[in-house]
Amino acid sequence: MSEMAENAGENLAEQRRDLLAWFDEQQRDLPWRRSREPYPVWVSEVMLQQTRVETARPYFESFIESFPSVEALASADVEAVLGKWSGLGYYQRARRLHAAARLIVAAGGSFPTTVEEWLELPGVGRYTAAAIASIVLAVREPAIDGNVMRVVARLLALKESPKKSAGWRAIEAKARELLDFDRPGDSNQAIMEIGAAICRPRRPRCSICPLEKDCLAAAAGEPERYPAAGRKAPVLRQRRRVAVVESGGSVLLFRRPGDSARMAGLWELPWIDGEPKEGSEEAFGQRYGGRWKVGPQRGRVRHGVTNRSFQIEVVEAKLSSDNEVAEGPEAGWFRRSDLAGVPTTGLVGKVLRLLDT
Ligand code: SF4
Repeated sequence: MSEMAENAGENLAEQRRDLLAWFDEQQRDLPWRRSREPYPVWVSEVMLQQTRVETARPYFESFIESFPSVEALASADVEAVLGKWSGLGYYQRARRLHAAARLIVAAGGSFPTTVEEWLELPGVGRYTAAAIASIVLAVREPAIDGNVMRVVARLLALKESPKKSAGWRAIEAKARELLDFDRPGDSNQAIMEIGAAICRPRRPRCSICPLEKDCLAAAAGEPERYPAAGRKAPVLRQRRRVAVVESGGSVLLFRRPGDSARMAGLWELPWIDGEPKEGSEEAFGQRYGGRWKVGPQRGRVRHGVTNRSFQIEVVEAKLSSDNEVAEGPEAGWFRRSDLAGVPTTGLVGKVLRLLDT
């Protein structure tokens, strides 16, 4: 081996050691880190796909308490699973987790033993499969989410966008190099945690970063330039009118169709697109059945769903007869105090909180 290659190898080994030493000292005490069992690790990784650690933590604890094993999850009703997920958003995750639990149990109850086998389960993509396999099975596979991508792009001062294949390949190769041979799951988690807590998109805290001495972006004094920007999907802005119909302490919700692309089967407040000056009562009637009387505006909220940003006008409404709406989509009256256990869209809670202020 040439001297240069030997130095590079030693340098990498030192980077791996620095990462793990930092992780051992600084890692947060998170409930899913107390076990290397596949079930809690899998549940936590699915929850963390689109949710921050601190938001996911109480949901994780309550979910595991209700469904302590893959068998318990598989035998539960999907409504109960969605109820436990209520408020976390991206409900397809819960449906797929439940479907995957049933597949695992139907196949004898054993969890996958390779990245490829994990990838066969509903709701498990490349990142999740790599994270689980590295933590549970000590497979040396990099788990690359947005945080990890940012850390590695900065380490390399990568000129290519990670959204292009050359940029992605460079990030994957470097992230793999950083994984310890015995504890790849901890290496992955260390890089994720650095991305979340230190190597932030704005004002990264390089002075306390365990990777600083090898970071090319920090050395150049301009870490925020990385990762190189790719083209962003445009955000679509939309106006929507949402009606709150209340009667005797209960609120009227409608169930989204089971084949909806988003939030299938969740309960939501009635809505129409736009904020028409006239014809709003007819529009609600056409959409939900019944004769509607739309009352005063109660406020406004903003609500983001993937690449759409909704400007929402909240109005009170009444129906001439409660039964008439049965002609439309599935309807139900829910006591406000019972809503915590009902699988609702995130907007329901947001609007009802607005009315309470
Ligand atoms: S040194 Fe700074 S830019 Fe480099 S990885 Fe650490 S926090 Fe990010």
